[in-house]
Amino acid sequence: MVSKVLIANRGEIALRVIRACREMGIASVAVHSTADEQAMHVRLADESVCLGPAPAAKSYLNIAAIVSACEITGADAVHPGYGFLSENAKFADILEAHGITFIGPTADHINLMGDKIAAKAKAIELGIPVVPGSDGEVKNVDEAMAASREMGFPVLVKAASGGGGRGMKIAETEKDLAEAFTTARSEAKAAFGDDAVYIEKYLKKPRHIEIQVACDTHGNSVHLGERDCSLQRRHQKVLEEAPSTVLDEKARADIGEIVTNAMKGMSYRGVGTVEFLFEDGEFYFIEMNTRLQVEHPVTEAITGIDLVREQIRVAAGEKLSFTQDDIELKGHAIECRVNAENPETFIPSPGTLHTYHAPGGLGVRMDSAVFSGYTIPPYYDSLIGKLIVHADDREACLRRLSRALNEFAIDGVETTLPLFDRLLENEDFHAADYDIHWLENFLESTAPKGD
Ligand code: ADP
Repeated sequence: MVSKVLIANRGEIALRVIRACREMGIASVAVHSTADEQAMHVRLADESVCLGPAPAAKSYLNIAAIVSACEITGADAVHPGYGFLSENAKFADILEAHGITFIGPTADHINLMGDKIAAKAKAIELGIPVVPGSDGEVKNVDEAMAASREMGFPVLVKAASGGGGRGMKIAETEKDLAEAFTTARSEAKAAFGDDAVYIEKYLKKPRHIEIQVACDTHGNSVHLGERDCSLQRRHQKVLEEAPSTVLDEKARADIGEIVTNAMKGMSYRGVGTVEFLFEDGEFYFIEMNTRLQVEHPVTEAITGIDLVREQIRVAAGEKLSFTQDDIELKGHAIECRVNAENPETFIPSPGTLHTYHAPGGLGVRMDSAVFSGYTIPPYYDSLIGKLIVHADDREACLRRLSRALNEFAIDGVETTLPLFDRLLENEDFHAADYDIHWLENFLESTAPKGD
């Protein structure tokens, strides 16, 4: 087993990992920037090391400083959380070269899945159904046009290195394609330093359904059901739930089997998420994330499994602590991402939380690193925390969510909490009658009218 884990992250996810370590009897090391000296992850870890100044490039993304922090503290493993270096193959490689365990998959698998064109080709090879699209990269407008005509408009131009919904442009008709191609490419170049793009059929009303997998180095590959993450704004998830109301047991078992066989086929190690669009009863692979997801707690709620604990076990060469037969999905769970943002314009609202009181009680989990008097720094993402509610069925879960939202007391910054109150008043949301475009239409139709 590993004995000391350095958490190369901040905020709620750093706390999440510290908690798992503490329960496993493993020591934890927090790293932080000068802006995070007073942060909760620094206070709760057994030890802490300052990496550098506030900008992430000089602290949380500074690989040399993180490796030095491991050497100074004697940490024998690193958990990367999500974001920052969690999908950086070079980081995984450098750690391993220093004899430090990277709590995640191999650098090769991170590399493979980080290139969405290569990932899609691999998915096809492994028998996973994919969104119809170009045969790999399209290098110019002519190639893009030929591929688009073949599959029919509308199409989506997507960045091979894409993430966070960036570098993605729709072309409704032929006349939009040249512009979509050029803007997607330049956005991709600016955001990821890689201008490779490919084309996908643009699905009109799919759900975003992702399958959680966990694999060990003893040949065990297990899925833990799905999460429905269709409620998105600008291709970013806002609220997630599990299970999805549109899958029955057979559909779940079928896709679960396809995915676990594929993971076994590539000897995947650790936890991962295989993301699909789901339309008219069919699954279409879009990408795989080789890390812990923000929304992992909804899966933990309905399975009772601690995914971070399993990540650490697998990284240490142990077996998963469960088999497919042990997995039983119980009840329904919903996660709301509570951001320090204006609930209508979504403009970030950093500042000091004069009051902070989180909801609690049966079936309510709040993953957050903030506290009364805490100042949200402007340098990082605007997540205040994640409210996760769990109950016997979806109806009860919605009632519990409403109760929990009512208990929240946050003062000092604007938050997205009012958005969830508004959602709870909506009939389509109650009926789970939505697709990936639904939330944006809802936001537009309920936005206060300017004059
Ligand atoms: P990223 O890595 O930037 O998050 P993804 O490929 O995971 O990009 O897609 C993010 C979101 O964009 C999806 O959840 C979905 O809402 C939308 N999307 C992606 N591909 C398509 C497609 N072919 N048709 C329609 N929507 C898509």
